[in-house]
Amino acid sequence: MEKTRTIGALGGVGCLPVQERLWRYLKSQRIHPALLLVGPGKEVKYQVAKGMAKFLFCREKSKNAFCGECNNCKRIEKEIHPDVFLFKEDGEEGLKIEVIREMIGQMRVSPIEGPHKICVIEEAHRMNSAAANAFLKTLEEPGEGRYFVLTSSQSGSILPTVLSRCIEFTFRPEDDELTLSPELDKKFREILLAALETKNFSHLTSALVEKDEALIFLQFLQSEIYQCLLAKESGKTTNSVFRSLQPHDLTMKFDSVVTLEGQLRSNANYGLMIESLMRQQFSGV
Ligand SMILES: [Zn+2]
Repeated sequence: MEKTRTIGALGGVGCLPVQERLWRYLKSQRIHPALLLVGPGKEVKYQVAKGMAKFLFCREKSKNAFCGECNNCKRIEKEIHPDVFLFKEDGEEGLKIEVIREMIGQMRVSPIEGPHKICVIEEAHRMNSAAANAFLKTLEEPGEGRYFVLTSSQSGSILPTVLSRCIEFTFRPEDDELTLSPELDKKFREILLAALETKNFSHLTSALVEKDEALIFLQFLQSEIYQCLLAKESGKTTNSVFRSLQPHDLTMKFDSVVTLEGQLRSNANYGLMIESLMRQQFSGV
């Protein structure tokens, strides 16, 4: 268990190698003004983009994550921070030129609270060409402290001139497959199923023999939730135990599990912590 996966707090989808790369990138370099998150899982990428905004603005940032609790983190979560612009795709006509013009205008103005301004554009390939061309000019000279995070499930449809100005991070579903020994996989599945059926979560935690195993169990749980989320978002049927949950709910639960994994690494009482998480998040499954 050498691998740390604390990047999770970046948006609640912590076990993906791509996010480790993103995390390291945010921490260690001058951040490029335009980042593109590509791959399946629309909501997942959106949450990661929001997590990046939290990371930039968090007042209680630790070495590994944003806190999720400070005023900035909370306002970004509620999508009411004055320096964070989030454009969600509406599912119908794509991103219109008027929306992009408004965004460009907002990004030109100095940050209200500073020092950054960040704009997230979901499913950026859905910008029509007029919108993409208007946006391109902003990307060429984004201005000090301005960051754009684009997400897309079809980067091939993004204007090449826009694409060439972005640093791309690709999310792949297979990145998320956690490799466990068949015995451990069987054990985790059994104790999870039993716990969800009986709601006896203390039995589950007593079956996890030590902290390392508890940490792997949490990664297993993340992987199961994430696979279910990907299946749902791509319209596939799934026999996951979490199939009754909506994507938003899955993302929230994923976030809780990832957060707990981070906390657990610095706390000895793993049994109680997992039991409390299971009670809070999974009693209704
Ligand atoms: Zn914070």
